[in-house]
Amino acid sequence: MKLFDPHIHMTSRTTDDYQAMAAAGVVALVEPAFWLGQPRTHVGTFEDYFASLIGWERFRASQFGIRHFCTLAINPKEANDVLLAQGVLELLPRYLGKDGVVAVGEVGFDDITPQEERVFAAQIELARDFELPLLVHTPHRDKKRGTERSLALVREHKFPEERVLIDHNNEETLPLVLDTGCWAAHSIYPNTKMDEARMVALVKEYGHQRIIINSAADWGVSDALKVPKTAALMKASGISAEAIEMIVWRNPIEFFAQSGRMDLAELESLPDIDQRQLFEGSSVLRGQVPLVVERADKEKAS
Ligand SMILES: [Zn+2]
Repeated sequence: MKLFDPHIHMTSRTTDDYQAMAAAGVVALVEPAFWLGQPRTHVGTFEDYFASLIGWERFRASQFGIRHFCTLAINPKEANDVLLAQGVLELLPRYLGKDGVVAVGEVGFDDITPQEERVFAAQIELARDFELPLLVHTPHRDKKRGTERSLALVREHKFPEERVLIDHNNEETLPLVLDTGCWAAHSIYPNTKMDEARMVALVKEYGHQRIIINSAADWGVSDALKVPKTAALMKASGISAEAIEMIVWRNPIEFFAQSGRMDLAELESLPDIDQRQLFEGSSVLRGQVPLVVERADKEKAS
């Protein structure tokens, strides 16, 4: 079964993670723009970050046979820096039209401040202008209130709910999201928030419609293999293969394909790997023998 991790911050991860994910069946991912742990102080650092998400990181994933997509935004935490946020909002239109950008995100709330709400609202309008889906982060503290306010803001702006993915859900927020037309994602972490067993229980209770899982792995304590691990527990727990395939493959594709920037036929075939390639003169190799894999199913198709 092909797996999709629709929320993972690969910029913070190593080539070991790419290799392990590919070996576990992950063939595509979405990397949302987010906070880097330490607040950025210049708009220009966002410009280079956005450029790396559509450039170098996309190349790096391809070197391990993984298709890389991204979402761009100013995240809720850094939105509280008024001048920085304004600068990034002005920068975003130059990047939102690029190949591989499949949503505006992560937007949403962190401390649920009025300034966060202004920046969130401005980015809902950017998603509308660029006809993109919207990826909404929900806060770690006060998650229920942050989720309710996010859903209300989407509704106030009359943004199409089927183009909204509310992320990092738990038992308390999932029913709120499913009551709307929005999609619901769940980040599976080690030892906190949502874990594999709790996710299995949620699928048994709520089914698989509009339900997505991801690892949300980043620079913190997290696990880049949580999508394959959760899929394995779902299988062992008697959830049907069809339902699992919806959650770990068809649903994230259906959601992000609304960007018009995913080639569905291409996604069904495994990507070639050619580690002889360079990106602006750089390789992921350090003198190792380049791996070159041409997929047989592609030859059959041609
Ligand atoms: Zn994230």
